[in-house]
Amino acid sequence: MKITDVEAIPLRLPVVTDAADSTQDALIIRVHTDEGITGIGEVDASPGVIKAIVDAPQSHQISNGLRAILVGKNPLEPARLWDLMYEGTIFFGRRGAAIMAISGVDIALWDIVGKVARQPVCRMLGTPYRDRILAYASTLMPDTPAEASREAARWAAENFRAIKMGWGGFGRSFEQDVALVAAARRAIGPNVELLLDLGFRWERRDALEGARQLEEFRPFWIEEPFLPDSLEQYARLADASSIRVAAGEQNTTRWEFLELMERGHVDVIQPDVTRAGGFTECLRIAKAGADRNRLCVPHAWSTGIIKAASLHLIAMIPNAQFLEFCVQNSPLNLDLVQPRFEVCSDGTVAVPQGAGLGIELDEDLLARYRVE
Ligand code: MG
Repeated sequence: MKITDVEAIPLRLPVVTDAADSTQDALIIRVHTDEGITGIGEVDASPGVIKAIVDAPQSHQISNGLRAILVGKNPLEPARLWDLMYEGTIFFGRRGAAIMAISGVDIALWDIVGKVARQPVCRMLGTPYRDRILAYASTLMPDTPAEASREAARWAAENFRAIKMGWGGFGRSFEQDVALVAAARRAIGPNVELLLDLGFRWERRDALEGARQLEEFRPFWIEEPFLPDSLEQYARLADASSIRVAAGEQNTTRWEFLELMERGHVDVIQPDVTRAGGFTECLRIAKAGADRNRLCVPHAWSTGIIKAASLHLIAMIPNAQFLEFCVQNSPLNLDLVQPRFEVCSDGTVAVPQGAGLGIELDEDLLARYRVE
């Protein structure tokens, strides 16, 4: 079996704002083969940047686009192809966007592996730990306590046992952050977990004081209070606070996650399967986290492709706690793939059991929002 083409397909809603919502555009990967089986993947990053990394023509031996590296290769060897892509892009890659592009291709390759074997991807990755995963509703923090209360209550009423609120209204002052969190906690009561995503807003603040003021509302974690490279600030907060500190959605490769744990002391690592290196690398990252007694709770905020891929990945991670379930009302989030993911009355989502990722792209929707 041979790869015949790698497509990078940018999608974009007609109106895109600067809200912290990456479901307004998307980059879909399709890997085609000479046996008619096609794998699908996604990269949650700047679609134009990722498309360039897929489409770039062959240059010298360590500076190539991913299509040039992969055409003619056997798609049933994803780990070997991961190394070829890593080495073939090392002149401009090693971290960041090149690894994100590799992530989308790696997901599509594992989709092909599963489709050929007529097994779900998680079964191809090993022996799954679970077939249902507790979801947390992931939403933006509104600007006022009254809206925060309504938003939190809304998702608690939709079966979620955990809710994450982030970015948006956070970061104007500690008083405002506390008022928003207090309102959300009051709205959902003591039995639903509340997760907070600070979206770097504490970078230039006395974060220990902010964390101390939030303790009484029992957040499950504080996520990304600082910029990703502020590792000493992460370590100071994680060492001093009783609240878990989470980070990692901007990080790629096992090497950056080792640094995040060993220098940043974070309690929870959040590799995104469409960014950090695909299934192949995220399982290595999760293993490094498990070896150090950290939770590994993958980041996921985009279409049903990332939901499916994250479910297969989390099925394989012993130290995972939740599926991040983006609840944005965007057609790219809700309608791009079939079947749609249902949150059951116990707050869990089932790992797809069909072949490969277990999902189908909606070709009409793909054509409607395709921009190149
Ligand atoms: Mg986040």
